[in-house]
Parts: sequence; C-alpha cells; structure tokens
Amino acid sequence: MIYPKSIATLIEQFQKFPSVGPKSAQRMAFHLLKMPISEVEKFARAVLEAKQSTVACEICYNLSTTSPCEICSSTSRDRSTICVVAETKDLIAIEKTNEYKGLYHVLQGLISPIDGIGAEDIRIKELLSRLTDENVKELILALSPSVEGEATSLYLTKLVKPFDIRVSRIAFGLPVGTDLEFADEITLAKALEGRREV
Ligand code: ZN
Repeated sequence: MIYPKSIATLIEQFQKFPSVGPKSAQRMAFHLLKMPISEVEKFARAVLEAKQSTVACEICYNLSTTSPCEICSSTSRDRSTICVVAETKDLIAIEKTNEYKGLYHVLQGLISPIDGIGAEDIRIKELLSRLTDENVKELILALSPSVEGEATSLYLTKLVKPFDIRVSRIAFGLPVGTDLEFADEITLAKALEGRREV
C-alpha cells in the first residue's frame, strides 16, 4: 500500500536518523500519529527549541547555548590540556566523571573512508590551529576503540608529531566497538587516569 504523502514524508524524515531503518522509521511515525495533539506539539516545540538555542562553540565545537561555550570561557579550567572527542555526547560523558579539568575539542565525527568521511570533513584543521597556542602541552585522544576511532587517532598522532605536545590515548578496558557514552563513569575515569602516551 502507498502512504498518504504527509505520512511518507514523516517516515522519510525519521529514516534520516542514525541506525533507524525503514521499519523503525515507520513505527516511530505511527507512534507519533497516535499521540494526542498536545503531545505532538510539545515534541515539535522541543525539536525546534533545541535546534534554535544551540550553537557549536567557535573554539571547541561543543554544542552549547553560548559561543564560546561555558568550558572554553571558564577561568578555572586547565588550559594546557585538550581532550579530543568525536561528539558532544562524549564530552558530556567525560564531564560526568568529574575527573577532567582541561579543555576539549569536538571533532564532530570520525574519519571513515567507507562512509566517505575524510580528515577535511571533521574539525581537525581547527584543532591544529588551536595547537599553535603555546599553552597547550597535552592532547588526550578519547575516541572510541572502533575502526573509525582508531583511524582518527592514528591520523591525529602523526599530524601532531611536529608539535612539541604530549599525545596520549585513554586506556580503554572496554570491548572494541564500545561507545564512550555507554561506559560508566568509573570506567571512564579510570580510562582517563590510565591514559598512555603514544
Ligand atoms: Zn568551547
């Protein structure tokens, strides 16, 4: 059967989300259609408000309500260390450990040749320009132990070599493929503490 255009469009939109296939997209669309109109309005408003009130920080590319973000503008953070993460959700996971007091750099993705994502598609250039700041002494790579995370870590390690900066990687006691956001706070705190120079 063919859906009315408005429903087909809704399904199409849901299908744009990561790891949402046609079946899940269909389920989500029909769930939404079954919701009371007041709930749907609340949902639509939340989507718009989240988008409109959020900007990527001009320094670290963390999603924030201000630019520079709270972390970059804080006077109590250790400005000699930059922790490199793939997404804002990873930054949040590390912040939750309360163990890290340095700055961040959010790459907004990972190098993934299979998906056609190269070094120039993520915020690597912007990271390099921050490294010319003489205050930076250490770069901590906190990227997931996935194929993409490994590729990006290796690329960054080579790139940063010419700078007089210590590069370390967090010590994952996690199975390959685990996302940072799924690591509990203690595991993540230990991973940070046990980081190894590369
Ligand atoms: Zn920032």
